[in-house]
Amino acid sequence: MVDSHSHIYCDAFDEDRDEAVKRARDAGVRHIVLPNESLESVPRLAALHEQYPDYISMTLGLHPEDIHDDYLDVLSQMRPLLDRYPIVAIGEIGIDLYWDKTWREEQKRALDIQLHWCHERDLPFIIHCRDGLDDILEVIDQLDCPVPRGVFHSFTGTPEEVNRIRERGDFYFGVNGIVTFKKSTVPQLLPVIGLDRLLLETDSPYLAPLPNRGKRNESANIPHICNFVAQAMSVSPEEVSAATDRNAASLFSIHIE
Ligand SMILES: [Zn+2]
Repeated sequence: MVDSHSHIYCDAFDEDRDEAVKRARDAGVRHIVLPNESLESVPRLAALHEQYPDYISMTLGLHPEDIHDDYLDVLSQMRPLLDRYPIVAIGEIGIDLYWDKTWREEQKRALDIQLHWCHERDLPFIIHCRDGLDDILEVIDQLDCPVPRGVFHSFTGTPEEVNRIRERGDFYFGVNGIVTFKKSTVPQLLPVIGLDRLLLETDSPYLAPLPNRGKRNESANIPHICNFVAQAMSVSPEEVSAATDRNAASLFSIHIE
């Protein structure tokens, strides 16, 4: 199993990060991908990747919630880092208008710029989308380069939205602890997405799956998500882990231990 989206570099793990990595390994997690948030978080991701070079991969990108009036300057400082670090994706990037719509146009412009980075470097994207699908699809439709490959992480949309996304490209969908929540609509989405386009993720430290809902989330919870997905799709957990490992290896071009 692969945790395709973990923020284990955040300060919630400052006390026991190495133990959390060990617990992930013991739980059968074979690789962890760290999505970046801002310029400030880059050294934390880099340090963790250097410590576990074959087990933990890093990405670069500016998270939509970190976009403010200085975003063009931040992006121009981030761009040279693409050559400095061995990144496996551009992310997380996207649109988040859930709490605040102030920076909508700036978020769209930043998404366009960073999708061009994907194209230039032949890297996939990791999309973060909250109340922003129309804007994201508009940016993708107006791209003046080929649409890169990528994943819509923490996907909780409708089957119709899966299809709208698929009209634009052959994308993957990241499923996390939300799939285990009582009123979740994600289980019904799984057959629409299909095993061949599914990725497992925690979005650690948030969104811990049942039976650990409400606690700090970590990669060792991936088996709970995997088992739940297997049950919802009436397949074995081994089939889910094999397919999602294959998907992660293919999308991120990573070697899974
Ligand atoms: Zn995230």
